[in-house]
Formats: sequence, C-alpha cells, structure tokens
Amino acid sequence: MKVRFLGTAAGGGAPQWNCGCATCVRARRDGVSRTQDCLAVSGDGVSWYLVNASPDLRTQLLATPELAPAAGSRVSPVRGVVFTSAELDHTLGLLTLREAEVLDVYATATVHNALRSGFSIETTVGSYTRLRERHLAPGTPVELEGGLRVTLSVLSSKRPRYAGTTPLGEEWVGACRFDSGPGTRVFVYAPGLAAWTGEFGRAIESADVVALDGTFLTEEEMGPGRPASGMGHLAITDVLPFLAEHPGPRYLFTHLNNTNPLVLPDAPEMSALAEVNASVAFDGQLLEF
Ligand SMILES: [Zn+2]
Repeated sequence: MKVRFLGTAAGGGAPQWNCGCATCVRARRDGVSRTQDCLAVSGDGVSWYLVNASPDLRTQLLATPELAPAAGSRVSPVRGVVFTSAELDHTLGLLTLREAEVLDVYATATVHNALRSGFSIETTVGSYTRLRERHLAPGTPVELEGGLRVTLSVLSSKRPRYAGTTPLGEEWVGACRFDSGPGTRVFVYAPGLAAWTGEFGRAIESADVVALDGTFLTEEEMGPGRPASGMGHLAITDVLPFLAEHPGPRYLFTHLNNTNPLVLPDAPEMSALAEVNASVAFDGQLLEF
C-alpha cells in the first residue's frame, strides 16, 4: 500500500492568512508551510484515491508526480474521492476536480445529503462532470480499484456549521480503514477524532499505520471557553496515553491547526510522541508498507 500526505493542516492551513499567533509568526519566519488536510492512497501504485479534497488540491496534485496523467492522455490516476466528513476544508477541493470525465465520490449518506443540500457542491460539480455518488455504509467494506477496499466507522455526529440544524442524518465524521482483504496491510485515517471510543479501537485493530487527528496539542490551546473537545477534537496530549495502551501501529498526527506548536518541525514537544511510536506527518510524505 502507498499513502501520500498531500496536506497536513486543519482548515486555513499553517500559517493561516489572518493569524499572527506565535506558531504562525515562526512558520512565516522559517518558511514552514502546511496545506490543508488531504491524502492519496493506492493499493497497487497505479489507481489512487484522494481521501478528502482540500481547498489546496490543485497545488497538491501538481506537487505529486504519481498523480499526474500519463503523457499523451487525459486519464488521471485519481479514481475517486473518499470523504471522512463534510467540513469545508475536506470538500472544497471537489470544485478543482470538475474537469474529470467521471468522478466517483464515496461518503456516508449523511455527508452526501449535506453536499447536496446544505452546501450543494456535489450538485454544482455534477453539472460539469459525471459525478457518481457512492455510499459508505458504516462497517461495510467497499471495493475500490487497485485491490483496495475501504471501511468507514462513524466517530462522531459533529456537523459542519453550514449544515445548521436541518435533519440530514447522524453519520457526520468517520475513520476510513483501507486494506486489501483479511490479513493484508491496513491503513486507518481519522483526521477528526472526538473521543477514543470502542468503535475507534476496533477500526485500528491490526493496523500497520494510523493517521489521526492532530488538530490541537492541548485541550486549552485555543484559549478560555474554546476547548478542543468542544470543537470535536481530542487533543494530542490526551490521545498519547491511548497510543501507549495500543502499541503496534505506527501513528502519524495530521490535520494540525495553525495554533499547534507541532506545526514547527523543531518543536520540543515532539519528543513525547516518539515514545509511543508516533510522529507528525508532513506535506508530501510518502509511506510504503
Ligand atoms: Zn496562527
């Protein structure tokens, strides 16, 4: 299996255009840049699937040689998009894919509902390309090209702000488990982990690599009255004890908010991660396992 991290920051990227926090100031000074959360996964190195489609997608695709079309063709190795949520930072990049001849979009019924009504990007893009709505029913593996399959587990019912209170379903935020069948390599991607649940424990069972929510380093990072847990994210310092209890996989944090000191590669807080076989993913990082 191959996994390419295309972007590793939360919504807004890091540094964020309108932010002068300590991390953003240092990132600007040192030339550190993280684009918004998105990755590509492949079972055979030929057919690739985007997991989430960030607003930075065009730049990310151009920076990734294995996602370029073969010379003389308009056939992209990108076979489709899998959504872990309906949040704007995970879905706006769909607009960038409107030149595709056909586009398979995998998501829960709830996420499709949101992208058809609350924020009708699937409807809009469907006017430009043949967008095929593929459904991920929680717990049911779905076959993809290249010998890959994906199984979604629901992690939380935290809905995007634009969805308001319209009843659209409860399967809002998920973890995606990629494998090629029983006994094969396993990759789990969970950029929005609100709590370490039994459901999530099962999702990462026998996983080789787990990429997980690194939005905030600490619960209080955003200041008084804005706890990480209130925004649907389990802070890294609170997840580390769970990683110690679940040794085996290699853990990589992604989806870092611009306030997170771990945005910077030389952050001293990095050392605690190594103790539990964890690290912070970086833009362009390629994993083969
Ligand atoms: Zn900032």
